Amino acid sequence: MRPIKHVEKGLTYVAAGMFNAIKSVNQFKPNPSFTPKWADKPILKSWQKSKPTLGFPRQTDSLCPNCVIEAREEILAGKRDVSTLINEKVGEIKAQIIERDGEVWMIKDCPQHGHFEDLMAMDSNFLTHIESLFPGRDMQSHNDEKLHNHGTSSIKYGRGAVLTVDLTNRCNMMCDPCFMDANQVGFVHELSMEDVKEILDNAISIKPRRQMSVQYSGGEPTLSPYFIDAIKYARKVGYNSVQAATNGIEFAKSKEFCREAAEAG
Ligand code: SF4
Repeated sequence: MRPIKHVEKGLTYVAAGMFNAIKSVNQFKPNPSFTPKWADKPILKSWQKSKPTLGFPRQTDSLCPNCVIEAREEILAGKRDVSTLINEKVGEIKAQIIERDGEVWMIKDCPQHGHFEDLMAMDSNFLTHIESLFPGRDMQSHNDEKLHNHGTSSIKYGRGAVLTVDLTNRCNMMCDPCFMDANQVGFVHELSMEDVKEILDNAISIKPRRQMSVQYSGGEPTLSPYFIDAIKYARKVGYNSVQAATNGIEFAKSKEFCREAAEAG
C-alpha cells in the first residue's frame, strides 16, 4: 500500500473517533433540535430514530401476489369498491425471511393460493451489510392525513423527496417485460391536466417536504398531450426539478421537442 493510503486510513480512524466522541457528549447533554421551515416538527437526533426489525430469520408483513391480482380485477370490473384497499387488509399475509445456503429467501403461505418463495438476496452477508447501513427512520409524516390515507400502506415517515406521476400507460415501445405492463393491459389510463394539477398541488401542500422534485413516468410520459404543460406547472408551483423516466424516442425524433421540454423547466 502507498504511504499516502496509510495516512488517509489513519485520518479516517481519527475522524471517526472524534465524530463518535462528539456524538456521545451530545447524547449526554443534547442541544435542542431545530425545526426547519419545511417541517412543523424538529429534526430527529440520530438516537431518536427508530428502526424496524432487521436481520434474519424474521417475520414481516407481505402480500399474496394472486390475491392482489384478483382484487385489482374485481375493482376494475366494478365488483369490489376501491375503498376496500383502505379499510380491509386485502391480500395481506405474514412472511418469514430466512437464510438458506448463503441466500436470503422470503417464504409465505396464503390460505387460498398456497405457498410462495421469493429470492431476496443471493449473498446473505451482503444483505446484512446493507441492512447495517440503515440510519433509522426519518421524521414522522405530519399534516398529511387527507393525502396519505392508504390503510396499512400509508406513508408514515420521510420528508418528501421525489414525487412520481404516471402521466399515461401508453408507450411507443412494447418491451417484454415492461415494468408497468405498458400497452399490455387492454385499456388506456391517462391523466387529464386537471388530474396532474390536483396531484402536484396536494403533494406540495404537505409537510415535511424538503427537496421536492417530480418525476413524470408512465408508460412513456412524453406521449401524454400534457407532458410540456405538466413540466411548466410543476416549476410554476415550486417544485425544484422535473425529471422524465423516458425511453428518449420522442426527444431523439425532434430537436424542437427537446428545446420545448428544456424551456418548460
Ligand atoms: S414503459 Fe419502458 S419498459 Fe415499458 S414498454 Fe415503454 S419503454 Fe418499454
